[in-house]
Amino acid sequence: MFKEAMVVGRIYGIPVKIHYTFLLIIPFLAWVFGSNFSSFAERAGVPLENLLLNPYLSGLIMALALFISVLLHELAHSRVAQNQGIAINSITLMLFGGVAHIEEGLEDPKKEVWIAMAGPLTSLLIGVTLLIALSIYPLQLFPDMRVMGFYLGQINIFLAFFNLIPAFPTDGGRIMRSLLARRSSYLDATRIATTVGQVFAFLFALLGLLLGNFILIFIAIFIFFGASQEYRQTLQRITLTDFKVKDLMTKNVSIIDEDATVKELLQRILTELHSGYPVFSDGELKGCVTIGDISNVAPEKHHEYRVKDIMSRNIKKVSPDDNVYQALKILSGFDIGRLMVVENGNLVGIITRSDIMKGFRLRQIQKDFSYR
Ligand SMILES: [Zn+2]
Repeated sequence: MFKEAMVVGRIYGIPVKIHYTFLLIIPFLAWVFGSNFSSFAERAGVPLENLLLNPYLSGLIMALALFISVLLHELAHSRVAQNQGIAINSITLMLFGGVAHIEEGLEDPKKEVWIAMAGPLTSLLIGVTLLIALSIYPLQLFPDMRVMGFYLGQINIFLAFFNLIPAFPTDGGRIMRSLLARRSSYLDATRIATTVGQVFAFLFALLGLLLGNFILIFIAIFIFFGASQEYRQTLQRITLTDFKVKDLMTKNVSIIDEDATVKELLQRILTELHSGYPVFSDGELKGCVTIGDISNVAPEKHHEYRVKDIMSRNIKKVSPDDNVYQALKILSGFDIGRLMVVENGNLVGIITRSDIMKGFRLRQIQKDFSYR
């Protein structure tokens, strides 16, 4: 769901991405803020006749300023993580604010508490600073800005507290998980946090239905699926980190020479029932060829084309001692099906997604039986 995002810049070396839903929410918020601007002005104590800008222009400025404060919230999470030595892959601005994609493997509860706290504290700081600044400096010269500052201050304070609700995977939910993880395993803590998050999601949805507030219903759906997705990922990560590549790889690998014809390749696929082969030339690994590569060659050309004409040369390698979770990340990162397992320059095996999934399922079955 985060794939439809484009990079718009970098801050502290972190790519900042904009998700397409962000492009929908900005005009929507500009419209909501714009059409309510006169009532905002009244409540901020600014007489309507003093307003200088078109309310919808003010609404647009408010919407953009709101997302800048959301970006600051995410940057705060990211900077604290970086200071703890944890890499940040990217920050994405989207429909419900922002997401900082923190490098996985964050199993240190103490670090997680500070990283999770940093965001809401920043929102609170922005909100309180705006409100205090407005009370110290009554901006009589530019009343529109006063109205914007008054509302942005309140929204930021609201965001700080909303994010602290322990509806995992919100910031508050992450804080709760880290506190739980001090007394139990990280996985058990995640399981409890997920259940609590889903109970909150249910309550938000119910409240949304009763109040006719569809934004609350959306947030409920977001939290519900976000929580179960995080649990699955945590379970997978913790289980797969236990395995080494050599535990799950296929060892007796059949290879093919780069000068073999496509016809020969197809015959071997049909008799040996492999879906792909590492390609060698003079004892050296040159590439990888799969059933999919054959489909680009017309059947009458099968005896003309050679494996080296259709193979993919961009092969990814892992070491037999790497953990399987790393291998899975490479597979999904490059969207490929298999990795070559290489030790001291020699091919010692192949590991595929299905090898990994099989290992994961076996470990689950093993655990289910050991409980009885
Ligand atoms: Zn946050």
